[in-house]
Amino acid sequence: MYNIAWVDNEKCIAEKGCRLCIMYCPEADTIMFDESTKKAIVIEPRCKGCDLCKVVCSTHNAITMFPVDPTTGQVIRGGEAGESAALGQAYAG
Ligand code: SF4
Ligand code: SF4
Repeated sequence: MYNIAWVDNEKCIAEKGCRLCIMYCPEADTIMFDESTKKAIVIEPRCKGCDLCKVVCSTHNAITMFPVDPTTGQVIRGGEAGESAALGQAYAG
């Protein structure tokens, strides 16, 4: 089981200039600014589930980690995220 990040557009304030998750994500072109919605968006196949974006967005709490079924590759929305890749936890200190 692995996780991927998901952005709640109701909470994301990217339209006000926030780019924290985009700046901190260690994977290139994985969490991006969506010009149409003016929110951050996760390119799900690229996400490594490291949690870092969730940690840096703790003030607005706009990012949730969801588990991915390893056999089907389907994101389990509303599922409880499994253990993370721990990079975000390391940053959170
Ligand atoms: S850090 Fe949070 S509020 Fe800021 S752009 Fe990313 S998801 Fe949106
Ligand atoms: S969980 Fe990690 S790899 Fe995925 S979008 Fe967030 S910071 Fe990037």
